[in-house]
Amino acid sequence: MQDKYKREINYMRISVTDRCNLNCFYCQPLKKAFFLPRSEILTYEEFLRLVQIAIDLGIKKFRLTGGEPLVRKNLPFFIKKVLSLEGIEDFSLTTNGILLGEFIDELWEAGLRRINISLDSLDEKKYAEITGGGNLKKVLNSLEKAIEKGFDPVKINVVLLKGINEDLSPFIELARNYPVYIRFIELMNTNSKNKKHFLSCEDARLRLSVYGEIIEVNSPQGGGPAKYYKLPGIKKSIGFICPYSDHFCPTCNRLRISADGKLRPCLFSDWYMDLKTPLRQGVSDEKIKQLILACLKKKPLNRKKAGRGNKIINMREVGG
Ligand code: SAM
Repeated sequence: MQDKYKREINYMRISVTDRCNLNCFYCQPLKKAFFLPRSEILTYEEFLRLVQIAIDLGIKKFRLTGGEPLVRKNLPFFIKKVLSLEGIEDFSLTTNGILLGEFIDELWEAGLRRINISLDSLDEKKYAEITGGGNLKKVLNSLEKAIEKGFDPVKINVVLLKGINEDLSPFIELARNYPVYIRFIELMNTNSKNKKHFLSCEDARLRLSVYGEIIEVNSPQGGGPAKYYKLPGIKKSIGFICPYSDHFCPTCNRLRISADGKLRPCLFSDWYMDLKTPLRQGVSDEKIKQLILACLKKKPLNRKKAGRGNKIINMREVGG
C-alpha cells in the first residue's frame, strides 16, 4: 500500500489501552489525565478484525503500545490471536516493563519474541520522579527475565531529558553488560514543561565520543527511524531517534490506531479517521478498507504539514 508521496505503508501501531500504571511527566498535556470509558475502547475482536483488514491491505508489521499495553486484561491471549493470522512479518510490544516480568512466560507462549522497554533512568530516585512513582527494580527484573527467556531483540527506549538523564554513562554500562539495543529518543513537545528538558540527538551523540570511535551500523530487526552506532565494548548497538533534528518523514511507513479506534496518518496529526463508529455500525470489511485508504490519502508529507507541526496531542492516547 502506497501513499500519495509513494511511501510504502506497511506498519501499524496499535494502542490497546489509554490506561497506564505510570505517569511520566513528559507524556501528555499538563491538565489532569482522564481515561476513556471502557465502552469506548475497541474490544479484542474489533482490533482483530482491523488487523486482518490491515493485513489484506498490505500491512506486515504491527506493534502493540498504549497507555501501558500490559495493564489491559488478557493481552497474551490477544497476541496469540493476532499471531495466528497469516501475513504478519514482524510483531512487537512496547512496554514500560513494570508488569513485564509477571507476564514473560505467557507472552513467550503466545508467540511474542521482540520487546521494547521504556527506561529513562537507571537511578531509582530519578526513575520514580520521571514516572510518577515507578519502581526501577521491577523494570530491571523484567529486563533480566526477558533476556533469560530469549527475547531478541530487546530494545531499551530512553527519552533524552536535559538536566535529568543527560549523563548517558549508566546506559552505556547497561549496553556493556546486557545484549540490549539502547535507543535514545528526542523529547517531543506534549506540554510546556518539556521544552526546558529538550536535548538534541546531536548533543547526545557528541557525549558518546568519550567512549571511543562511533561507527554507524545496520539496524536490528524492526529497524524503523533509528540510526544505529557501535561503540567499543558494547554487546549490541546504540540507536538515535530524532524526530526534530533528523528528517525521517520521507521514509515514514506507518499508521497509528488509538484504543478508541482513531486512525491517525501521522504522529503529529490532530486529524483522525474514526473507525470505531463504522465498526460498531456493522459496515463491511470493504467499507473499512476504503476508510483506511481515505485516511492514508491524508498522510502528510512531513510533520510540519500535519496540523500541529511540532506538537503532539497526547502520547498516552496516540501510543508514541
Ligand atoms: N507504556 C508503554 C511504554 O512506556 O513504553 C507504551 C506507551 S509510551 C507512550 C511509548 C513510548 O513513547 C515510550 O517509549 C515513551 O517514553 C515515549 N514517549 C512518551 N512521551 C514522549 C515524548 N513526549 N517524547 C518522546 N517520547 C515519548
